[in-house]
Amino acid sequence: MVKALKVNKKFGESVRRILIENSIYNKEYKIEKDNNYLYIPIYNINEEILQNLINVEFDIVEKDLEKIKKNKQKSFRDVVLEKYSNLVKNKLVSLSYDHIGDLVLLQIDDEVPYNIRKDIGELAYKLIPCRGVFRRKSEIKGEYRVREIEHLAGENRTLTIHKENNYRLYVDIANVYFSPRLGWERKRVGELVKGNEIVIDMFSGVGPFSIACKNAKKIYAIDINPYAIDLLKKNIEMNKLQHKIIPILSDVREVNLKGDRIIMNLPKYSYKFIDKALELVKEGGVIHYYTIGKDFDEAIKPFINKCEFKILNKRIVKSYAPREYIFSFDIKVVKV
Ligand code: SAM
Repeated sequence: MVKALKVNKKFGESVRRILIENSIYNKEYKIEKDNNYLYIPIYNINEEILQNLINVEFDIVEKDLEKIKKNKQKSFRDVVLEKYSNLVKNKLVSLSYDHIGDLVLLQIDDEVPYNIRKDIGELAYKLIPCRGVFRRKSEIKGEYRVREIEHLAGENRTLTIHKENNYRLYVDIANVYFSPRLGWERKRVGELVKGNEIVIDMFSGVGPFSIACKNAKKIYAIDINPYAIDLLKKNIEMNKLQHKIIPILSDVREVNLKGDRIIMNLPKYSYKFIDKALELVKEGGVIHYYTIGKDFDEAIKPFINKCEFKILNKRIVKSYAPREYIFSFDIKVVKV
């Protein structure tokens, strides 16, 4: 018997993606379905966290799901766990990684000796379909929200084309911010956008949220990093959205616009830009506020007393640090 999340079939795919993005989906077992429900295998997790992640009705049940037969070839995770179990146990090497386009970004601590870092990089290159392997060398930092990386194996090239939802993006993992783990969140926001809306993406990076909002009438995509704006322009062209998305290289504080939907994807510092977002939003419009905190109440605090608002939706997007999360709030601004 294994723990499974029982959910109505019509929400199955979106729930499965949330579970994968948050490392809750237990890939060792097959999903089962009956006439109305999917039974998705999951790892043990606090039910309250699950409720915050998943906004549709579900039950957690014990189910006799079929075990997936493993390929003869071991996975990257299997091999690293076998060879470097102590480093994994001590959290110096993580089994999870980001796959961005044809590049892989590993999480290996600086303390791990260079020859072992290289060996793990070579294992990833051999066992994960990719062209180049790097590791995170620093936290995301600075105004451009970029991290230092170290090349470990394969091609030493940092520019790639990443596919998500139904669009493609040029990303340079050394010079711009990008997280493939927000793909589902972008899909969710994109699906809320109506054809008559003006969207303002305050911190656009290479434009994944802007492009996901392509149903809008117009999208203003603003970023202070010139390299991100260069790639954004290429992405607008590659996705044939020149008539919709207007790239703006600027500090968002210098921009004067009005929009129906404002995207604030700068989780670490978005609280400093609430006044600006309220200047940009039309009354009755929606702000997508991304922020870091321990719980929903703490996370929404900076918004309290700034305006009259109603929370339309809130969820945990992903974990950020031990017991800290990135939260998303869809906030309808009733009166500025
Ligand atoms: N939305 C993008 C995404 O999902 O990939 C990028 C998000 S990244 C966390 C935040 C972005 O905000 C960075 O690209 C950074 O250069 C930009 N940024 C930081 N401060 C800014 C400011 N004052 N004005 C405009 N952009 C800013």
